[in-house]
Amino acid sequence: MALFGGIEAGGTKFVCAIGAGPDDLRAEHRFPTTTPEETLDQAIAFFQEQQVQQGEYLAALGVAAFGPLDPNPRSPTFGYITTTPKPGWANTDFVGAIRAAFDVPVGFDTDVNGAALGEHRWGAAQGLDTFIYLTIGTGIGGGGMVEGHLIHGLVHPEMGHIRMPRDPERDPFAGVCPYHGDCLEGLAAGPALEKRWGQRAEMLPSDHPAWSLEAHYLGVALVDFILTLSPQRIIMGGGVMQQPHLFPLVRQEVLALLNGYVRSPAILEHIDTYVVPPLLGARAGVLGSIALAQEALKSV
Ligand code: ADP
Ligand code: ZN
Repeated sequence: MALFGGIEAGGTKFVCAIGAGPDDLRAEHRFPTTTPEETLDQAIAFFQEQQVQQGEYLAALGVAAFGPLDPNPRSPTFGYITTTPKPGWANTDFVGAIRAAFDVPVGFDTDVNGAALGEHRWGAAQGLDTFIYLTIGTGIGGGGMVEGHLIHGLVHPEMGHIRMPRDPERDPFAGVCPYHGDCLEGLAAGPALEKRWGQRAEMLPSDHPAWSLEAHYLGVALVDFILTLSPQRIIMGGGVMQQPHLFPLVRQEVLALLNGYVRSPAILEHIDTYVVPPLLGARAGVLGSIALAQEALKSV
């Protein structure tokens, strides 16, 4: 079987891996995200070393990255991290740096589209053609497929920044998004929870009022996505969703807010299998980047 490399490029850490799927992950290397030069050099060094160790050249590489980024192969800035507020990373030619070291096809997409592709191939979205994958972590991002194709469009979806109705009596917190204040990410990502409640999300007890408010915002967002994209399933990952009690609360909010309008048994009778965690768990991202590599090889 061909050798594939994947990079899950996060704003705080990079995970590089070699393999061909969940049962064939041969090596993995994690390191913190620092400057683009240092971080990309470290990734390249890992894959060069792996080619020697495995005694085989890479067939393709996949990158699932934080953004905003340019995933359009026909664009002059394809493969760039574009306008990110992350210091030092704006206008970074990610794919160019990889291609300068390896003469192989390189797949490049958002972290969430990568995870969506991984879940489609090996996880909770197998057999579906329209679904979304959300991460609720340091930020909130969404990706997925419509009719079997990863969603791109003008740039790529930014589902984390949809505007939210906020009742200042229930929630006086103005939000932390530098662009919008109280958008979904500004109100409901991990840093918003920490700032609003004065302790990290993982420290908040399960009966804390934080969680019903969190479920409310996530429920509003899910309903908007259900109504616009009609996904067959919604997968929710990321650090904040590590709280298992959050899933039932979000599902209840979705049912209450939809109020019976979308008459599908998948929602009305099987909400437990409609809003789900990633089947690949914390490996969705890195396996997704390997799936992007496999797609890149197919499309040459
Ligand atoms: P990233 O988004 O940087 O890739 P994560 O998905 O782990 O990383 O998200 C980190 C955020 O999730 C932090 O704000 C952290 O407080 C929160 N978080 C991490 N673990 C948990 C947990 N078990 N329960 C609730 N929140 C968590
Ligand atoms: Zn925002």
